[in-house]
Amino acid sequence: MLMIEEIENFGFKPKKGIFDLERCTKCSEVVFSTGLRVVNGKHYCIPCSGL
Ligand SMILES: [Zn+2]
Repeated sequence: MLMIEEIENFGFKPKKGIFDLERCTKCSEVVFSTGLRVVNGKHYCIPCSGL
């Protein structure tokens, strides 16, 4: 019983983080958290962060 619970919790947490989505502050483009740039606490996509 205890072993099964641990495995389910372990499998669920990483997936939620990997597929997390954010919206760009400037152009409202939806981007994956992996490709997100944070500037002054605001979220930007890659093209907007480079301007
Ligand atoms: Zn953008």
